[in-house]
Amino acid sequence: MKAVASIGILGAIPQEVNGIIAQLSDVIEHEIGNRVYYEGRLNNQPVVVVYSRIGKVAAAATVTTLLLKFNVKKIVFVGVAGSIHEAVNVGDVVIATKLLQHDMDCSPLRPKYEVPLLGKIYFDADTSINEQAKVAVNHVLQWDSLVRLIGNDELSKFAITQPKLHMGTIASGDQFIGKDEQKQALQAALPEVLCVEMEGAAVAQVCDEFNVPFAVIRTISDKANQEASFSFQSFVEKISLVYGREMMQKLFS
Ligand code: SAH
Repeated sequence: MKAVASIGILGAIPQEVNGIIAQLSDVIEHEIGNRVYYEGRLNNQPVVVVYSRIGKVAAAATVTTLLLKFNVKKIVFVGVAGSIHEAVNVGDVVIATKLLQHDMDCSPLRPKYEVPLLGKIYFDADTSINEQAKVAVNHVLQWDSLVRLIGNDELSKFAITQPKLHMGTIASGDQFIGKDEQKQALQAALPEVLCVEMEGAAVAQVCDEFNVPFAVIRTISDKANQEASFSFQSFVEKISLVYGREMMQKLFS
């Protein structure tokens, strides 16, 4: 994917974007509102890379700055998430087809999950960025390249054996889902959701309101259960940087 107009790339935490920032050329750093925006080129594609910090408000503020101050024309979010679907495992990647906020609830005034005044529950990701993201993700998930980039030891620590790409619904909310009760409640209420995280649907809502195409790509760091905080922590230290860097290299090659 190459375009002359600048593209915004964001993650929530440094480990999700540091690998990408390290690949940029002609970098200019801009400090705005408690964030550092790295403006530069990734394989000659003008990009602005930033980590938003965690949660929907942080993500919405950051994406708005990317749109208004940097005039980016597309947004790609890259980060980690917890799986709440039995087919989705640690090391798999989920590309969102649509996103919703699982903690939005104005019932009985509006249907549960609907964003008031917008009148919608789901925000659709851009199908054309998604097609290109699929190619990039499949490239990274090839077993030989994962072994070369991450190593057998780390892959087996996380029981990653046949990582897969999934396309489907992602749910976001201002909660780390790390208890079986929370996970089961979400599964029961939203059975089609593949994974949960804390920023994607906020990015999606802002992009929808500004009419800017976006994609959300999430690597599964944990299974949103009692082991989630341990799994999440070691996954972001050891693996997410590599996935993020390699996917973005391929996406903008
Ligand atoms: N360890 C951090 C908190 C991480 S919150 C701290 O101490 O500050 C988890 C981050 O990873 C969020 O950005 C969220 O989008 C994603 N994430 C990964 N697994 C998740 C889960 N099980 N539930 C919710 N968000 C998850």
